[in-house]
Amino acid sequence: MLTTTSVLPTATLNTLPGDDVRAIMWRFTDRYDLQMLVQSARGVARGPVARLVAEGERNSHDWTPKKNTLLKAYDEAGLTGAFMDPAQGGYIEGPKNFVHALIVFELAWVDAGAATGAMAGDLALAPIHERGTKAQSDFYMSHACPRPGEKTWRGAFALTEPLPYVGVETGLLNGKVRVAEWKDGQEPLLQVDKRGRFITNMGYANFVTAAVETADPRIKSSCMVILHEDDPGLWDRGTATKKLVHQLSSTCDPVLSLKVPASRIIGGYTIKDGVIVPNYDHGQIIEAVFRRTRVTVGLMTAAKLLSAVEPIIRYQRSRFRGSETAQPGSPRFDLGLQTKEDTLHRLADIWATGEAASSLGFYAARLFDELDPLERQKDGILRERKLAGRAAFKEMQKLEATALGLITDAGAAAAEQTTDPLVKFVLLDSLANVFCPAAKLWNTGHGANVMREAVSLMGGYGITEDCPGFIGHKWMDAQLEATYEGPEAVQRRQLSITMTNSVFLAQFRTWIAGMRAIGSTHPNTGACTLATAMQMWLWSLEHLQKATDAEGTKLYSSNRQGVTFPLADALCWLLAARQFILDVLELERKGPENPTVAAGLTGTLQFMSDLCHVQSARAAGEIGRICAELVFAYNRHPEWTAEACAACYLSDDLDKFEAVIPGMASSARAYSDVTEAGTEHPTKAGPCVCLEGLEEFTKMRIRLDGCLTGARLAKDRAAEALTKVMIPEALDYPM
Ligand SMILES: Cc1cc2nc3c(=O)[nH]c(=O)nc-3n(C[C@H](O)[C@H](O)[C@H](O)COP(=O)(O)OP(=O)(O)OC[C@H]3O[C@@H](n4cnc5c(N)ncnc54)[C@H](O)[C@@H]3O)c2cc1C
Repeated sequence: MLTTTSVLPTATLNTLPGDDVRAIMWRFTDRYDLQMLVQSARGVARGPVARLVAEGERNSHDWTPKKNTLLKAYDEAGLTGAFMDPAQGGYIEGPKNFVHALIVFELAWVDAGAATGAMAGDLALAPIHERGTKAQSDFYMSHACPRPGEKTWRGAFALTEPLPYVGVETGLLNGKVRVAEWKDGQEPLLQVDKRGRFITNMGYANFVTAAVETADPRIKSSCMVILHEDDPGLWDRGTATKKLVHQLSSTCDPVLSLKVPASRIIGGYTIKDGVIVPNYDHGQIIEAVFRRTRVTVGLMTAAKLLSAVEPIIRYQRSRFRGSETAQPGSPRFDLGLQTKEDTLHRLADIWATGEAASSLGFYAARLFDELDPLERQKDGILRERKLAGRAAFKEMQKLEATALGLITDAGAAAAEQTTDPLVKFVLLDSLANVFCPAAKLWNTGHGANVMREAVSLMGGYGITEDCPGFIGHKWMDAQLEATYEGPEAVQRRQLSITMTNSVFLAQFRTWIAGMRAIGSTHPNTGACTLATAMQMWLWSLEHLQKATDAEGTKLYSSNRQGVTFPLADALCWLLAARQFILDVLELERKGPENPTVAAGLTGTLQFMSDLCHVQSARAAGEIGRICAELVFAYNRHPEWTAEACAACYLSDDLDKFEAVIPGMASSARAYSDVTEAGTEHPTKAGPCVCLEGLEEFTKMRIRLDGCLTGARLAKDRAAEALTKVMIPEALDYPM
């Protein structure tokens, strides 16, 4: 049914995609527990959270008693305990990345500050969860899990420090740890001094996981330590940050100066020659934490984009109702602003971006769920084989070669086909290293720009507190999502390294063929367009890795952010559009099994594949723009040398040729340089550029432009569907 290429839709979207459609696309139809959790989180989001926003509780920076009621709501809905294993008091077995993703998505649908507040405790626990000792993990995870009659411990994660210290550069630590007291045969006592900046949950946290540098020769390296509110010393929560966003979370700049036992070093320590050696420095812990938690941040912005669709449609349709010129039954009454093509096209873009962002984010979350147990298994195997440090690194390098061989044999199915956990780990790890920063970067950065479009479609209403769906708040909030847990520059920096990994690139190559194959059976999805864009990105990356600029300086290097960063951005467009197509294909496969979905499936698939096409075309446009600029623009433009001037046609000669070869004069002007009578050379910057070695790129560029054929027809169909889709009478959360 998706193979039709006609302009007119064979069927149209009846209603907005419901939970059953989402469970198929985001692959949790077999997880009844998660479907229940979604309902639970939705109850909190569209109940207490929405009420607080509607009552104006976002208008204060402080952590008020009303805001504080949310903590109980999260606990009672099972959101706080969802991170813990059943043995720690939780109720969900296994990795929790996807669990987090679903909770955050539901909360951010209404307010991302609430989502951040609900999850910040888990961010505080994450260093302990990822690298803590078993005793630390059991203790803090169970104390942070709501238990009847007992206090729930709330945590804060403190990395960022007052200027000029930690921000994007996480190595610039000013927080210090020293030995305060070390009696013979006893556990050392540490003095920890840490000032934080912008620390979430700090208004009520009972413990803090803090990154500190060593300031003592008896402590080998930096580390993360756990601080309690009742440790001896100073526990000053600091003043509330006067932020413009996320007002339903608590943020302060704390000052902490405390004495703690060395057992609070996260991950433990050994003592070597009278020196405390932390098992993990702060950088190792932070890397393990952020590579997971950043995915959920990306999903916050994705949720907002999709949440904007319903309020915008309602506003557009009802815009003129009640006026004398809009009589019931007239297009002005029924469709309102939706009679204007631009409003529909822009809404289609917002919706397509929201879908692609969600598909990208949820895929990344599922990927980490698959990777987590493999990582633990890998660590166990390396330990068994007594491989650590350089030896472990060498072993992993050997496995990369095995993984590459497997990709050659098995193509895109390599990860499914291997039974070797180490090789599987290498394959998935190379993907996770790309998908996490990509989801954070594209969803929040580009997502924030697209949220502005959503605001603008609501006119003046969009920038008022009364705007249905709180779209103005969501736009502002999106900027914080693009900033915290490492702003865009951090994600781009990471991508510029991980996207050149050979195992990732080998898998990426197989996806190009995969998209072509999808294109042949499902041309309406724009998969073929995307395949050409993927090819162009890969060509450009490989070219830029070898190329130099006009001065002979290497182009692809860490200090050349003007090259590496745009290429990282370009990759994100491709990954997002591809994940969206894959999710729509899943819907086509599994939809018929679900009676609720099956009823309107033809129309839903038609619409979703049109959105895929819209998104793929937009992605292709971005790739063409970014790659062309990078490939050409670091070369020096040719100048009017005597040789270049001599190579130009003279206009007088052309006029003579025209008599013999009709059309010659105009073709020559279109394709080469022509010197007009009385001038030295054509009036322009220099001879037209024809750089050797770039012909392949130029051909690909022309092909890519041609591949856009049909994309606007898809957009027209999607726009038409937006005028027909049924929406509820009113939003299910207050204004
Ligand atoms: C509401 C809120 C809540 C927060 N919660 C927490 C929390 O709970 N715990 C915590 O530890 N932190 C928290 N943060 C801090 C947040 O993570 C940092 O603000 C963020 O990482 C950016 O650091 P910075 O503000 O120092 O920016 P800077 O480091 O000053 O960066 C400013 C800009 O400079 C550019 N830049 C900087 N370095 C580079 C580079 N190497 N290459 C290219 N460009 C660069 C980037 O464009 C960047 O966006 C929170 C922040 C806010 C606002």
